[in-house]
This record gives sequence, C-alpha cells and structure tokens, in this order.
Amino acid sequence: MIIRPKIRGFLCTTAHPKGCEAHVLEQINYVKSKGPIANGPRKVLVIGASTGYGLASRITATFGCNSSTLGVSFEREPSSESTGSAGWYNTVAFEKMAKAAGVYASSINGDAFSDAIRDSTIERIKKDLGPVDLVVYSIASPRRTHPKTGQTAKSVLKPIGQTFSSKTLDTDKAEIKTITIEPATDQEIQDTVTVMGGEDWELWLEALDKAGLIAPGCKTIAYTYLGAKPTWSIYGKGSIGKAKQDLERATKAINERLMKHKGAAYLGVMKAIVTQASSAIPVMPLYISLLYKIMKEKQIHEGCIEQVQRLFATRLYGKDVSGKDLIRTDEAGRIRMDDFELQPEVQQAVEDRWNEVTSSNLLEMTDFRGYQADFLKLFGFGFASVNYEQDIDPIV
Ligand code: NAD
Repeated sequence: MIIRPKIRGFLCTTAHPKGCEAHVLEQINYVKSKGPIANGPRKVLVIGASTGYGLASRITATFGCNSSTLGVSFEREPSSESTGSAGWYNTVAFEKMAKAAGVYASSINGDAFSDAIRDSTIERIKKDLGPVDLVVYSIASPRRTHPKTGQTAKSVLKPIGQTFSSKTLDTDKAEIKTITIEPATDQEIQDTVTVMGGEDWELWLEALDKAGLIAPGCKTIAYTYLGAKPTWSIYGKGSIGKAKQDLERATKAINERLMKHKGAAYLGVMKAIVTQASSAIPVMPLYISLLYKIMKEKQIHEGCIEQVQRLFATRLYGKDVSGKDLIRTDEAGRIRMDDFELQPEVQQAVEDRWNEVTSSNLLEMTDFRGYQADFLKLFGFGFASVNYEQDIDPIV
C-alpha cells in the first residue's frame, strides 16, 4: 500500500508506520540529547500513552530515566485494507526501541475507562512490574462509557452561559472565518465533566492502591490546560474548563489517598501544542498558529517532548544543589509548564495579531505552515528520512 495523508478537517484518517517510527525516534533523540534525568521514576504506568503528552511522558521516562513502562491506549489496529491509527504505530515503534535499549515496555490497547482494561492492567503490573512510582494520566477522549452505570457520556467544546463568537481558522481552506457556538446545556456540561474530569483518574489510583501496587513516594500527574484570553470562552471558562476544574478536586482526593504512601498527585498545566486532541478544539488552531509564530520568534517555542522533558528534569524530579525538590506549584497546587506561553509580552503579541489576522495575511502573521507540518507529523507524514513512494505493508 502507498500511504498518503487523507485529511478531513481536524482528522487524518491514515497514518504511516515508518513515519510514525521516525516521529518516535525524533522524540527519543531529543530526550537522549538532554542527558539522563537524575532521581527519576523506576516503574511507570502511562494512561493515554500512544500520542501527544502521554507518549512524550513515556519516552521521557524510558530514555531519560531508564524507567520500565506500561502504556495503556485505545488505538485502531491496521488491516490489509486500511492503516492503523498513528497511536498504534507509535506504540509499536516505541516498544521496539525501548526493548532494543534493554528497557521493559509493555502496552495494553483498549478502553481505559472500562473495568476490564483496568483489571488486565493491574494483572500485568502484578506479574511484570510490581508497585509503580509514577502514574501519568493523559487521556483525551470525546466520550466515556461509565464502568458502573454502562452509560456513555459525550463531551462538548462549548461556552457556558452565553453564545461565543470568534475568529477561527479553517485549516482545510487556510481561511479565517467567524465561528459562533451556542452555550452548553447543564446536561452537556455534566457529561463533559464525566468524560474529561477527574473521576477516572481517581478510579485508577484506587484500583492500584487496593491491589497494593503503589510504591512508596509514588507520584501521579494529570495534564491540563488553562490558556489565555482568546480561548477562555471556549476552553478555560467553557464546558471543558469545568472538566479541568474537576481535576483539581480529584488531585486533592488522590493526594489524601497517597498520603499513607508518602506520595503526591499533581496537575501539570501544559502549553498549547498541536495534537489530535487540540486540533479538534474550535479556535485553537488559530491561537496555536499565532502562538507558535511568536514563541519561535522569541526562541522560547516548545513542542510536546520539550515540555515533558523539562517537566521531568526540572520540576517533577528536579532537585537543587542541596537536594531539595524543585517542584514549584502555584496557589492551586499546579505545576505551571505554560510559563513561557503565558508571558505577558507573548500574550500581548497574540492579541495584537489576533485582531489583524485575515485570510490574506495568514501566512505572514501566523505560523500556519508550522501548524500544518506538525499536524502531518502526528500521523507520520513529512519526514525526510521516509520514502513515501514505497509500497509498504500497513500491518505492523
Ligand atoms: P492526544 O489526542 O494526543 O492523546 C490522547 C491519548 O488518550 C491517546 O494515547 C489515546 O489513545 C488515549 N485515549 C483516548 N481515549 C482512550 C480510552 N478510552 N482508553 C485508553 N486510552 C484512550 O491528546 P493530548 O493533546 O496529548 O492530551 C492529553 C492530555 O493533555 C489531555 O488531558 C489534554 O487536555 C492535556 N493537554 C493538552 C494540551 C494540548 O495543547 N494538546 C495542552 C495542555 C494539556
């Protein structure tokens, strides 16, 4: 099969196995170039491990800290007629490279919201790993079937209280348009919290605790986004923002549970980057295209792997010369990796250009080309090392 990108809006329905491998290798090489991370975790469970921030966490743990990892994700298997999803190929490539480096890596593909997948993960940890000292929770999903009620909730990306109208970027046509989104209903808000809030993260920690699989000093981190003015109505103050607030409640509850293990739960507030999840959020592609341009100009741009490597090396496992922990949290107990993104001069420049950007000056005012290149890379396209004309077997 000759595999080419098939893009529909924020979706690319194909993925290239060799390109995904190149993407994983690029991230591994970045982590290796930064050198080993001292005091890192030994045994790591990553939930949502196949793409984006979860994959970057798994790569940093393995190639920065020499940690054994078990990754859970929900990806499409390839067939002779269609390619697998990017996360499927990433996972295959990651496992291959971890094993070649002599580090344990094992993966479970299935619905992490279900008791069945939780149970089989617990069994695998018991059999292969023993108690874990880091649990990364990095799921982004549009729906969740509740393990107790069997009901499926769908999340929405909508404002709360009032209609939201804003500039947005049509990424297929490279045009600036106006988008208007009606406010979420109470039920939709509640459903979004059910899907993307903290309950499932709590269930995972509860299950690990009951199975005696939490190592002393275990840390757990879930990723969140706060954002700035242009995205507040649709994100921070919208339905997804309510779900992210629920993560703060869950952090407190998990911290109580981890007290007896001398462990701790954190929220990592990460930077806006191009991932499969963020490209689905209205307004976000325009915001990210502007942000990338400005952060690249100021030489403070980071992608997924740079963010997570910095998180592990300087925050989660960072220590000063006297050996004191460098985890600095804000007033709400969150680790702020969005520090560069939220610099006032960065946000001011985004706002100024937000007002000026049009379809005709899009390429000069924004880094839309960078956005597109990063989007294609998510699916394994655009790597110079890959021969995209080659007929290859999609089944790996
Ligand atoms: P992503 O789409 O790249 O990754 C999502 C992961 O979740 C994949 O590994 C996928 O397989 C897994 N997943 C989805 N549903 C699942 C299920 N039912 N069972 C098992 N695995 C499942 O997303 P991302 O952007 O890396 O987001 C991860 C987290 O980081 C989210 O909480 C997101 O809000 C947060 N975050 C993202 C950004 C950003 O700009 N992308 C910024 C800050 C925080």
